[in-house]
Amino acid sequence: MMDCKQHFFNYDKAWAAGWRPDDYKQWLLYWTIRRRSKPHIHTEWKFSQRYDGVSNSATLQDGSKCNRFKFISFTHPEYWDTLIVPLTDFEEDKAWKKACSMSDMALDWFIHWANNSRYRKLFTNDSIYGANPVPYDTVGQVCHVSSLNLWKPDPDKTWCSKSNAELLIAAKGDDVVEEITKYRAEMKPTQYFKLLSRLLLIWQGKCINCGCTESDCGQCVAVQGHPCHWVKPSKCSRCFDGNGHLKKGGE
Ligand SMILES: [Zn+2]
Ligand SMILES: [Zn+2]
Repeated sequence: MMDCKQHFFNYDKAWAAGWRPDDYKQWLLYWTIRRRSKPHIHTEWKFSQRYDGVSNSATLQDGSKCNRFKFISFTHPEYWDTLIVPLTDFEEDKAWKKACSMSDMALDWFIHWANNSRYRKLFTNDSIYGANPVPYDTVGQVCHVSSLNLWKPDPDKTWCSKSNAELLIAAKGDDVVEEITKYRAEMKPTQYFKLLSRLLLIWQGKCINCGCTESDCGQCVAVQGHPCHWVKPSKCSRCFDGNGHLKKGGE
């Protein structure tokens, strides 16, 4: 089992670290996305070393305008918020299958890539996708800027966080579908980041509010004088009432 990673480009952190958009047009696009999704403006799903760490997402920025694979080195980790997504090989392969279908690449393209240096040279630093990838949903992305819901996302198109959420659904199935379905139509990068952070706590058996675990609840004992118990999975009794609702003042 090797871990996949989920990288979220943090506009505010990157800006503070000296990053600047390439030109005015790019700045306008990023600023527009940031308005509704701050501080995250882009997400990339990075497969494990089993797939040579190739990334999958959808973007307008490198000219691909669709779901695509790309070998990205993430030379500025300080620009990104990173979450490790623990997957079994079996789960990762299911995400891989989904990514290949979205980018219209054959399932075994990576094997040819890994074994053929000419092929590899051709694709390094390039977007990798076939003839009929899932196209980028410009309208769907732009409609997130306004809260008026004038436009609707196209179910047959995609953008970064929507693509990445599809991979998570493919990998984890029923485990995440219910959580994600609520936000599926809108799936902004920041929303997806929060959702994934929450899911990771649940998978680790931690309280989604205070982070205490079955074996380490010292912080709850310190506050209330006795250990908590689980009122619902990943919801402890210090933070949540019997119905699973967050207690007042339990922010
Ligand atoms: Zn708690
Ligand atoms: Zn506790």
